[in-house]
Amino acid sequence: MYRDDHDGHPDHRAQLVSYSNRLLHDGLAVGSAGNMSVRAGDEVVITPSGVRYPDMAAGDVCVVGMDGAQRAGAAEPSSETPMHLAVYAATQARAVVHTHSPEVIALSAVCAELPAIHYAISGLGGPVRVARYTRFGSEGLASAAVAALDGRSAAILQNHGAICYGASLAEAYDRAVLLEWLARVHRLACARGEPRILTGAELADVTAEMRRRRYGEAGRRTDRP
Ligand SMILES: [Zn+2]
Repeated sequence: MYRDDHDGHPDHRAQLVSYSNRLLHDGLAVGSAGNMSVRAGDEVVITPSGVRYPDMAAGDVCVVGMDGAQRAGAAEPSSETPMHLAVYAATQARAVVHTHSPEVIALSAVCAELPAIHYAISGLGGPVRVARYTRFGSEGLASAAVAALDGRSAAILQNHGAICYGASLAEAYDRAVLLEWLARVHRLACARGEPRILTGAELADVTAEMRRRRYGEAGRRTDRP
């Protein structure tokens, strides 16, 4: 049994509908593919299964408990609800975005990881792992995603897509966009030859500099290197 009122978490519902349409317009998914969620206390507000993004209404957005039991929503929760719940259980994530973005999927069919082709990858925690292929919606996919996310805020799902998390839906979404961009840059580089990859020391230096700027004397800086 679940309550069928649609007035719980109105801000999260509206935000999820808005970002779902961005997913489509930004080319990170087609049709009703991909899904996203926001954690609200002991509940997760998550996009529905099988509803085309242009048709998605706030009332279609679902609410599930951390045990996966549906508590609200006119439609079925996303088929990837187990993966979202596993990420919340294993990390400090407040929002999760799962895409079917083409550059990432193409890379996953060929490479075991997305290497440090650009220093911005430090924003995802470093080189992004590709989790071995496992069927969509399975517990196996959920655990593979969590393992690939160790020390990272993004992972690639082989022959499937990507999963990113953040402290907010905006942050998780921005990371999904960044991941797709990095995969594109990597492809462009590979088309020209063997790319130079940043070393671990160079990445550590970038991370230290970003931290210094974030917590530095200015404190209010908003520019990004
Ligand atoms: Zn998927």
